[in-house]
Amino acid sequence: MDTKPLIYIGCHLSVTSGYEAMGKTMLNFGGNTFAFFTRNPRGGKSKDILPEDAAALRSLAGREHFGPLVAHGSYTMNLCAAKSETRENGLDMLEKDLQRMELLPGNFYNFHPGAHTGQGMETGIALIAEALNRFLWPEMHTTVLLETMAGKGSEVGGRFEELREIIDRVEQKDKLGVCLDTCHVWDGGYDLVNDLDGVLTEFDRVISLNRLLAVHFNDSKNHCGSHKDRHEKLGQGQIGMEAMRRIALHPALSGRPFILETPNDDEGYIREIHTVLSWLG
Ligand code: FE
Ligand code: FE
Ligand code: ZN
Repeated sequence: MDTKPLIYIGCHLSVTSGYEAMGKTMLNFGGNTFAFFTRNPRGGKSKDILPEDAAALRSLAGREHFGPLVAHGSYTMNLCAAKSETRENGLDMLEKDLQRMELLPGNFYNFHPGAHTGQGMETGIALIAEALNRFLWPEMHTTVLLETMAGKGSEVGGRFEELREIIDRVEQKDKLGVCLDTCHVWDGGYDLVNDLDGVLTEFDRVISLNRLLAVHFNDSKNHCGSHKDRHEKLGQGQIGMEAMRRIALHPALSGRPFILETPNDDEGYIREIHTVLSWLG
């Protein structure tokens, strides 16, 4: 009998050696999912996926029972920037990224909703929804995930309500989900340490846990409500190891890919993957 793991665990990997290479690396790390940037996270330039490389990763991931992969859009992609040139650039990235993702059907594409840069939350939300309505299509094979944000500056997505409002306005709702970043929601003011059940209940009330499809599994350097967005290694931040463990084992999150975005080198990631695996038993 095939038993599904409690959760899938992995970390961010560099795409520079190709796609199958990332799968092999993650196998060596002991994990069963991973994240990668679809293009240079800061510069926005993309490297083409070779169809045969994508196919090789797909067969590796299938054979090794990987969970869904979580691609990450560029940090420079801002679908609700006030500057039209920045916004146009973001729209172009979104369109091309989603087309490229069709070579890896059945996976997730996560992105930061955006920063309204002074236009106001309402306008930000409207522009993000407009972009999604333009580039999601009924036959696509990727689920697009809005990431929960720390609420730094004019960021959209620091409150669950803001993500809900985006989702409400998107026609292709069946292609939409949310990626919960533990550092971000903590920094955003949701107390994962003292009230994990309450935070997840609130998520369910506002958005629905059915849309919570992936987790970015990070500790935070700062206190709850700091709106800072500075990730920390598991157990070395303000969330702490005990709360991280409770999150990983929470039944409401079972079956999801958990991606480490902690400040680590390879050795550090391997250690954290094994820590999480030890919790799962
Ligand atoms: Fe992110
Ligand atoms: Fe994240
Ligand atoms: Zn972050």
